[in-house]
This record gives sequence, structure tokens and C-alpha cells, in this order.
Amino acid sequence: MSLLLNRRVLFSSIGSLPVAQRAVAGAPGASVSPAGNAYIDSRKVLLWESTRKEFRESLEGGALKVLIVPTGSTEQHNEHLAMIHDTASVMLVAQCAALQLYPQAMVATPVSVGISPHWMDRKGTLSLREETFLAVVYDTCESLATHGVKRILILNGHGGNVAPLQKKVGEFREKLGINVRFNSYWDAYSPDDVKKYMESGVAPGHAAEFETSFAMAAFPERIHWEGVDYEKAKPHLHIKDPASARQEEQFYKEAKLASTAKGEAMIGIAVNWVAERLRQMIAEG
Ligand SMILES: [Zn+2]
Repeated sequence: MSLLLNRRVLFSSIGSLPVAQRAVAGAPGASVSPAGNAYIDSRKVLLWESTRKEFRESLEGGALKVLIVPTGSTEQHNEHLAMIHDTASVMLVAQCAALQLYPQAMVATPVSVGISPHWMDRKGTLSLREETFLAVVYDTCESLATHGVKRILILNGHGGNVAPLQKKVGEFREKLGINVRFNSYWDAYSPDDVKKYMESGVAPGHAAEFETSFAMAAFPERIHWEGVDYEKAKPHLHIKDPASARQEEQFYKEAKLASTAKGEAMIGIAVNWVAERLRQMIAEG
């Protein structure tokens, strides 16, 4: 987690992104971002960087209306991307969307290990059992509900978490008696968006064109092509399923199609979509 919490720069090379998206996730006071006409310290939408006083006053004063609980993973992302990618990407989208709604939305501490048994034959992957993961997400939501939070968007950045969360979100909502919704940030993308921006025609995929483009736009220092030689690495990979090995090699090749501009476009779509989702939730009452 310290990797994430110590992020200094998420966007180091911003061209066309709106200023509001030049957020600095996890870096207290490192930059400001505008919401409307007012410049807002990006720290203020992060629950874990806020003080008890700030959170209490915002919630009890009625300003704070919705919390995002990000879910990600810590798992292999082929030879070139950092393992925190899914958590870092969903955090970025969550924080930028929350900034658009400031002070109405805040981001809770992400669940940064996900359900990744399918990658356990790749070194470095961490995985929670489904029931463990769901218990952590539920308990996080329950903590927020206990404090009086009435709306929670569980926002996901890792494919392996999708089906279990989809299955459980209704039960969470009922048990907690508050408005709990679930989406992955890539629910934002229409088939036309994917066709327009991804030469491979694939998003989200895994460590391929989309995720590599996202990282180029958001945190290029988490991409490490140096010394990467896929052919040379192959005998050391020991991937059990031949179909999975073939797909990974295809994704590896498609990662070379990535660009900063594609990442910026896709991030912008996701941030605006999540912000709209939060507005809908607030309107639902
Ligand atoms: Zn990923």
C-alpha cells in the first residue's frame, strides 16, 4: 500500500486532459484541482488523508453525500507494468470523479488485493479467497454505513472481482439498508469508444494496449520496458494453460500499440462517466 500512498505524480505529462483530472492521488497537498471555479486540494476527497474533524463536519453538515470504495488487485501485469496497476488505475478514476463533485463525494481506502487465482502461476500475484475479499469489501462498506454514509459506489478496477461483487451487491444493499451500487470503471466504455481508441479493439484486456495506455497517461513511471525480452523470458514463465499463454503473448504484442493520447482519452471518458454515476446516486435520494 505504501507504493500507492506515496504516489507523488499520477499525471506527469498532461496534454489534453481537463485540469480537474490532474489529480495527485495520495499525495497530501501536493497539488490543487478545480471543482467548478474553486481550487480544491485533491487530498480532501481521500478519506484516509482526511482528519476525523474534516470527515465528520463534511458528513454531518450534509455536504458529503456519497463514498467510493475502490477495489483493485496486486497482480502480475505481464513483463512491463507494475503489479499495482488495477488498484492505481481505479484510484485515479475515483479521485478525479470525486473531485468533479467536491465536496459531495469522497474516496475510501482501496481494497488493494483482489481475487486473482487465475494469475497465481505468474510470479508476484497476491490473491484473496472470494469470501475473504467480499468480507473486506462488506466490512469497509459497513464501517461507512455505521458513520452515517447513505450512498456507496463500489468502483472496481480488476476483472476477477467483477462476478463476485455483482452477485453480492444486492445483498450488501439490503443488509446495510443504504444505497450501495457496483461498477467497474470500464463500464464507461461503449463499443464505439473501444473501436475509436483501441487499435487492438480490446478494453480492458490485461496489460495490453488499454492498460499500458492508461499507465502512459497516468503514471508512466510504473511502466518498465527496460530489459524486457519476452522470447527470453518464455522458458521461465511456466504458464500452465496453453490458451492463457497464447493470449498473454498476444496482449504483450498489443501493449506496443499503447500511447499517452489513447490513455488520456480513455481516462477522460471513465472519469466523466463515474462522476455522472455518482450524480445519479445522489439524485436517487
Ligand atoms: Zn489490470
